[in-house]
Amino acid sequence: MKSAVLAAVVLAGVVAGAPARAQHAHAAHEHGVAELRVVAEGEALVVEFASPLDNLVGFEHPPRTPAERKAMTDAEAALRNGAGLFQPSAAANCRLADVALDSPWLQGKHHDHGHDHAHAHAEPASDGHAELVAGYRFECARPAALESLRIGLFDAFPRLRELRAERATARGQGAAVLKAGQAELPL
Ligand SMILES: [Zn+2]
Repeated sequence: MKSAVLAAVVLAGVVAGAPARAQHAHAAHEHGVAELRVVAEGEALVVEFASPLDNLVGFEHPPRTPAERKAMTDAEAALRNGAGLFQPSAAANCRLADVALDSPWLQGKHHDHGHDHAHAHAEPASDGHAELVAGYRFECARPAALESLRIGLFDAFPRLRELRAERATARGQGAAVLKAGQAELPL
């Protein structure tokens, strides 16, 4: 699996100069389940979403038909709308500063920002599965007011059943399992 390396690359791309704290072991690839990591540090709120592609588009092979290409394009557009997918506490006054997507068959441009191209792109796993990793960086004017993160992923991607979330913030570290209807992560 290259996903741990990929996650580190994406997060490093989002948070220039951050230590490679994302070098974690991913859980097993399980359809219907995805992972979310949330790190708040200073004014930065960084969200990393890693999911089997099946949760997002319903398949894990290169898009072959117009319908499959449209599904991929639509999923990418939804994922780039980070302000719609993730709503930090309003009082914290956060704005979305950066989005990075990586997956084997991105339809849009691969890079939203100017980091160099020294890394390889995600490749499909040899077992026929494939994932997508999305990284988001918010900048919050009042980070002390960050209390929760409301998550719109279940509305955007109905195939997603469960989100295994980890957070590291000024209040400490924690983990939570989120589902549709329970889609708010305490920070
Ligand atoms: Zn799969």
